[in-house]
Amino acid sequence: MKLVDCHAHLEEVPELDLEIGRARANGVEAIIAVGSDKKSNEAVLRISENYPNYIYPALGLHPWNLRDQIDEEIQFIEKNIERCIALGEVGLDFKYQTPKDLQIKAFARILDLSQRYDKPIIVHSRWAWREAFEMVQGAGIKRAVFHWYSGPLDVLREILAHEYYLSATPAAEFSEAHRMAIKEAPLERLLLETDSPVKYRGVASTPSHVLKTLKAVAKLKGVAETEVAEITTKNAGKVFGIKI
Ligand SMILES: [Zn+2]
Repeated sequence: MKLVDCHAHLEEVPELDLEIGRARANGVEAIIAVGSDKKSNEAVLRISENYPNYIYPALGLHPWNLRDQIDEEIQFIEKNIERCIALGEVGLDFKYQTPKDLQIKAFARILDLSQRYDKPIIVHSRWAWREAFEMVQGAGIKRAVFHWYSGPLDVLREILAHEYYLSATPAAEFSEAHRMAIKEAPLERLLLETDSPVKYRGVASTPSHVLKTLKAVAKLKGVAETEVAEITTKNAGKVFGIKI
């Protein structure tokens, strides 16, 4: 089986080299390393250079990491845009303390980059599901992944109707909202990820835990793991434009 971990914060994963070895041994054929701000974007670029054709960098500006440094962040991303395969992690989080207007302003600038340079985006949309979707759609974005989607099903149906993707995390084992979304989405619109090193029920995740996501999704869908692996890996290749 070939798997892709479509969303990991590798610069925060302890003993990374060991974990990469573990991921390879478990059939993980590629990892999308997402950044959150300039410092982590620099780290993501550095890490991906050590693992060519295995770790693919995405440059981001996470709504949790916003202060008044947006210009500097956007300049860094634009300067390095040809080195990345996607823009992420980006988006909106209306449960977080960052002022909404600042989040919207930053996300709009990212969407503009995505549009101008034809880069897919990896979207965080917690408690701002409709707003995030409408901004993505309104900007005319062709390729988008709604990461760890756990929002309402009416918004999800619109996301799917626009041929955007959602990515499943190991929370597929226990989070009711996330499970509902995965059930609703056809396999052709699903990707697998870990959001490493996020802790799920007390356990810190690493890229090899994408196997947990695979198993949970296969169970939810009532489909063989090999089929889920095959389709989601094909989807990852398509949305990120990489050869796996
Ligand atoms: Zn993340």
